[in-house]
Amino acid sequence: MQKLLLHVCCGPCSVAIFEELSQEFDVTVHFCNSNIHPETEYDKRKQEVIKLCKELNLEFIEEEYNPKEWFEKTEEYKDEPEGGKRCPVCFEMRLDKSAEYASKNNFDWLATSLTSGRNKYAEIINPIGLQVAEKYGIKFFEEDWKKKGRQEKATKLIDEKGIYRQDYCGCIYSLTE
Ligand code: SF4
Repeated sequence: MQKLLLHVCCGPCSVAIFEELSQEFDVTVHFCNSNIHPETEYDKRKQEVIKLCKELNLEFIEEEYNPKEWFEKTEEYKDEPEGGKRCPVCFEMRLDKSAEYASKNNFDWLATSLTSGRNKYAEIINPIGLQVAEKYGIKFFEEDWKKKGRQEKATKLIDEKGIYRQDYCGCIYSLTE
């Protein structure tokens, strides 16, 4: 099986993806989300992903939590609404770090759970994934995880497993919006 690094943003967005990708790839989970504010919320989402990884026997890797870098990169777009110009910068920062990790650790593929989320458009996220994967010499698994019944499957699994479901995207701006 080829090795795939799955960038994961949170439990609810990834629960329906793990099983599907594991049928085709040797999956490792990469938690790379310096956008999440405050740190207590970051820890809460991380713990949910760790719990799922343990349950499914998937390796969990955590990228350095660096909100300072995230704030610097997105400062220019702080007044944008969720879904506006700030979001592609946020996606690119996270996916670039995941692609770099994947490349340095001999992964063949990069994928992301980001297209599962509301206001997260595959038409915006997939080109960023392709671009960072090309930069680091790996392949990007293009998918829109909202499609093919995955949303319904995720809703069912979230209820069954009692997964914590946050009510904002992640950054301080989406928290206050
Ligand atoms: S709203 Fe979500 S995707 Fe957009 S910048 Fe904030 S955390 Fe990132």
